[in-house]
Amino acid sequence: MTAISADDGATTTGSGNADGSGNRAPSPDAVLIRRTLAEIEPVADDVTSYFYALLFLHNPELREMFPPAMDAQRDRLFGALLTAAEHIDDTVTLTEYLSHLGRGHRKYGTLPHHYPAVGEALMYALERYAHRSWSPEVEGAWVRAYTAISQTMIDAAAEDELRAPPWWNAEIISHERRTSEVAVVTVRPDQPYPYRAGQYASVETPWWPRVWRYYSFASCPRSDGLLSFHIKAVPAGWVSRSLVHRARRGDMIRLGPPAGSMAVDHSSTRGLLCVGGSTGIAPIKALVEDVAEHGRRRPVEVFFGANRDADLYDLDSFLDLERRHPWLSVRPVVAQLATRGIAGQLPEAVRQFGPWREFDGYLSGPPQMIRKSVDALVSSGIPQDRIWHDFLGTLVSSGR
Ligand SMILES: Cc1cc2nc3c(=O)[nH]c(=O)nc-3n(C[C@H](O)[C@H](O)[C@H](O)COP(=O)(O)OP(=O)(O)OC[C@H]3O[C@@H](n4cnc5c(N)ncnc54)[C@H](O)[C@@H]3O)c2cc1C
Repeated sequence: MTAISADDGATTTGSGNADGSGNRAPSPDAVLIRRTLAEIEPVADDVTSYFYALLFLHNPELREMFPPAMDAQRDRLFGALLTAAEHIDDTVTLTEYLSHLGRGHRKYGTLPHHYPAVGEALMYALERYAHRSWSPEVEGAWVRAYTAISQTMIDAAAEDELRAPPWWNAEIISHERRTSEVAVVTVRPDQPYPYRAGQYASVETPWWPRVWRYYSFASCPRSDGLLSFHIKAVPAGWVSRSLVHRARRGDMIRLGPPAGSMAVDHSSTRGLLCVGGSTGIAPIKALVEDVAEHGRRRPVEVFFGANRDADLYDLDSFLDLERRHPWLSVRPVVAQLATRGIAGQLPEAVRQFGPWREFDGYLSGPPQMIRKSVDALVSSGIPQDRIWHDFLGTLVSSGR
């Protein structure tokens, strides 16, 4: 529930911009904080377990703000700490990241007076597990950093309160199974939900209260206010399996605020190279619709990757878009036994049709696919800072 504990910090970046701090020498506080983190990294699980145990022991009323299972939560705390430490001297990136977290924490009921309790538990946990590097100077650096982090989050939440609710209730008005594991779910929010094509929202279902997962909007904003998501049920997945196999028309879900900065740059004259793997094709569809609505004719090349033909669950609607828009080209890529489209792996197929120097890159899908596709795009002539993608976890690990 701190800045750094109850959200996974998924965000969007141009790959080359992951660390905007350049090569400047780190500040003295950054050096001390990174030294602490390096010491606790091998025992990160113990640190976070101890942190949460202390937090709940001294503030039992906070436990109900967290999900029943805390495993993922522990990774998120450490990932967020790493992110904050990595960008501690890069005010712009850090403020953007923390403001996003602060706004996102409103849906958990986080209030300004919760932050000192979290800070106290964090300091105790760090002192205990980073005992080799811990000193009054190190403690001072952490106190300064945590004070700045929490204030940024508190300010962002307060500002957001003036213009948006902490969450939106939304009724499922259609639930369409496209394959045995993929559903297209359309919802009607209880009040207007402003977002941009390419963004995503955190979603909570009635079956797993306080467990939030991100899903991308599968269309650009519509005049009827409806929102669509493409959900793939992952093995043993709590939220995805509920949304695919259990959800029905009339069920209510909750939506957090829109997030992510992947968006079409309408001032650019370059083409768009869009690569979507599995349900990663959802935000790509929103981007294509956005280009169509905007009315400017720029080449848009879509590569839709799937494991099997049967997993190309939205190909027909893409082909329909292709028929209506001469600037759009859609290529399905199938890893196993392709009878529709190109046989092989998505990154190789993209490379094969390059070079892509005159294009901006948009990637969406499983993290491994994104990683390989960034390489493919860079080697096909797109600079890193013109490649956009969503990623899981920290800014640090996404730096490519
Ligand atoms: C920015 C962003 C946008 C996203 N957009 C979409 C989207 O539009 N559609 C969509 O379907 N998903 C999307 N995801 C993924 C989604 O947020 C969840 O991570 C996913 O649905 C799994 O959640 P779960 O609660 O069902 O599984 P969890 O309970 O979190 O995980 C259960 C088990 O499944 C494993 N697991 C988790 N994810 C996968 C996976 N992809 N493949 C195989 N095993 C997995 C976990 O390691 C764990 O062992 C997006 C993620 C991010 C960060």
